[in-house]
Amino acid sequence: MIHENLKEVEENIVKACKKVGRDPNEVTLIAVSKTKPVEDIRQAMAYGIRDFGENKVQELTSKIEVISEKLNWHLIGHLQRNKVKYIVDSACLIHSVDSMRLAMQIEEEAKKKGITANILIEVNIAKEDSKFGVAKEEVQGLLREIANLKHVCVKGLMTIAPYVENAEENRKYFSEMYKLFVDMRSENADNIRMEILSMGMTGDYQVAIEEGATMIRVGTGIFGERNYTI
Ligand SMILES: *Cc1c(COP(=O)(O)O)cnc(C)c1O
Repeated sequence: MIHENLKEVEENIVKACKKVGRDPNEVTLIAVSKTKPVEDIRQAMAYGIRDFGENKVQELTSKIEVISEKLNWHLIGHLQRNKVKYIVDSACLIHSVDSMRLAMQIEEEAKKKGITANILIEVNIAKEDSKFGVAKEEVQGLLREIANLKHVCVKGLMTIAPYVENAEENRKYFSEMYKLFVDMRSENADNIRMEILSMGMTGDYQVAIEEGATMIRVGTGIFGERNYTI
């Protein structure tokens, strides 16, 4: 089943790119494996997937422990400052940075380990009370502050769009994110490289791609429904 699902997602990526004249190679698919067992991850690996997304630090570190192959692990969920030390050198990209305090904590832990941590700024584009992320008006200010950190590199922006029945309802938010992303590209600092726009999930990734996403995060559409009760 996972292989069929992956094939379908990949076909949809190609279709969405064709529709707007984009090259499918510009879009990275992150398989969101949260709550799913290692066997499921292995199936996706057998298909050729190398990018996996987890939203909990503990789950990410325990999966890394049992899977020895070199993979790209993305931390996509909210990150508490006291947990930064556990993932700063194992996550290839932290998608959820939404404060200077968190960025400074990442700086401190990355410095200790002698590495540069790659991060995205999470934007609450629809200004939902229930979501983390900075308002779009705050992004530039945060970028300018982070520009002073030597062990943190900002690679782009991330958003979690509202949950909607009809993906078209999110088009305006994806389009706003793309505009912001392009505007922020003109921010110049050694550690700011606006290359990644992480947006789009199972329900709306085609629309996100049409509006310029370079990374999509798909869980249910690959691994099936999640069961949080077990
Ligand atoms: C769970 C999750 C996803 C994947 O959601 P699906 O709707 O299952 O594709 C994507 N991004 C984030 C931040 C998530 O927490």
